[in-house]
Amino acid sequence: MRNKKILVWFRNDLRLHDQPALLEATQRAEEIVPVFIIDQRLFEKTEIGLSKAGAHRINFLLESITDLKKSIKAIGGDLYVGVGIPEEKVAELAITHGVQSVYYSQDVCSEEISQENKLQRVLSKAGIDWKIFWSSTLVDKNDLPFSINQLPDVFTKFRNKVERECNYAIPLDAPEEIISPEFDTDIPTLEQCGYELPDFDQRSAIKFVGGENAAISRVKEYLWEGDHIATYKETRNGLVGKNYSSKFSPWLCTGSISAKYIVDEIYAYEDERVKNDSTYWMIFELLWRDFFRFTAYKQGNKLFHVQGFSEHPDRKWRKDLRTLEKWIDGYTGDEFVDANMRELKASGWMSNRGRQNVASYLIHEMGVDWRWGAMYFEHALIDYDPASNWGNWAYLAGVGNDPRPDRKFNTQKQANDYDKNRAFRNLWLNPIAS
Ligand SMILES: Cc1cc2nc3c(=O)[nH]c(=O)nc-3n(C[C@H](O)[C@H](O)[C@H](O)COP(=O)(O)OP(=O)(O)OC[C@H]3O[C@@H](n4cnc5c(N)ncnc54)[C@H](O)[C@@H]3O)c2cc1C
Repeated sequence: MRNKKILVWFRNDLRLHDQPALLEATQRAEEIVPVFIIDQRLFEKTEIGLSKAGAHRINFLLESITDLKKSIKAIGGDLYVGVGIPEEKVAELAITHGVQSVYYSQDVCSEEISQENKLQRVLSKAGIDWKIFWSSTLVDKNDLPFSINQLPDVFTKFRNKVERECNYAIPLDAPEEIISPEFDTDIPTLEQCGYELPDFDQRSAIKFVGGENAAISRVKEYLWEGDHIATYKETRNGLVGKNYSSKFSPWLCTGSISAKYIVDEIYAYEDERVKNDSTYWMIFELLWRDFFRFTAYKQGNKLFHVQGFSEHPDRKWRKDLRTLEKWIDGYTGDEFVDANMRELKASGWMSNRGRQNVASYLIHEMGVDWRWGAMYFEHALIDYDPASNWGNWAYLAGVGNDPRPDRKFNTQKQANDYDKNRAFRNLWLNPIAS
């Protein structure tokens, strides 16, 4: 039977393409109520004295929602945007709009899952149904060759089995039409959210613009216009510039682009241009992303505990804000670490090579609680994603997957290997020329 009204709760899936909850809702309902609620808890301070999400991240999110609203309007509908506690607001809206069902994409981390549980309790009392979709990974949860409880703890085991036994699904089309009420809600500005827009730093690797349209343009640019994908394996450890790596992560984190869409484009590129180790390696890295997501789902809130997935804490960590500040501001005295940290603060971005080094330095040289490092990344990174961030931090701290105490980087050697001519250090350590 066709529902009269379905509410679609957008979360980290801010796109029209490959959006199973949205597509099915448009097929099943006479009218849909598309909703995005900016979580006010993002503005609250954590124990390191900074908001959960900083200005770069919030700005990118606001751009992403603006783009989504525009795209929905272009096919006849509208997007309700509010600020508050999403699980409460969504339930309220479901009741006031008299919907029969709420559709949304399931998330993987414990806070997001607890939001879902709270929402379900209110919906159930109100006699409203819900349907959950899985949309964030390359391999769907139901296509995994093992149950989540049996998920391997070592990436290589996961990857080998997935590569042998799974196909990656073709991304779904975007709906052609959306019928929804019109809303008179405005998207708040960054200033209304309590932030100031930082000036764009000309040294930034790239100017990120939020939203599905910018995401698709970046895929086009990285694959088809620049052919950068064809050399990705050789350039991916770079530090300076737009194209040493794909820079897809901020759009993947907000869900403005789907991993399946990217892989579908890579397959087309392999058919039409070139198939090599580099084109494969991008898919390999996307499997790391899947691995961290499924691991977060399996481990629940252990991911955020100091001892991670191990049962017993085996080391004492420093919790000294002044030491942390030196690291944050890029004044540790280690030039490679400092250059990377200054880049992050100024631009919301840091390369993967940089992230590994600065995390290792905080953990192994400064002895600071690894969770404080993860909290700062949560605040500062434009591409913050709970599963990838906390998963990588726990991994480097030796309390995550494949625990080993020796994931320590020699930052001097790394600087010599990856920044031989000092281009990166000079860029970020020297004052900007006016
Ligand atoms: C301490 C630490 C914290 C991190 N925090 C985050 C985070 O909050 N959000 C985030 O998306 N990534 C995080 N990463 C992983 C990785 O650094 C970024 O995904 C990558 O640098 C993004 O740049 P790119 O899109 O150009 O990557 P590319 O090299 O072009 O890779 C393509 C895609 O593969 C995925 N990917 C690549 N490497 C990893 C990895 N190690 N783990 C998970 N996925 C990966 C990303 O989705 C990325 O966009 C973290 C890594 C470390 C060491």
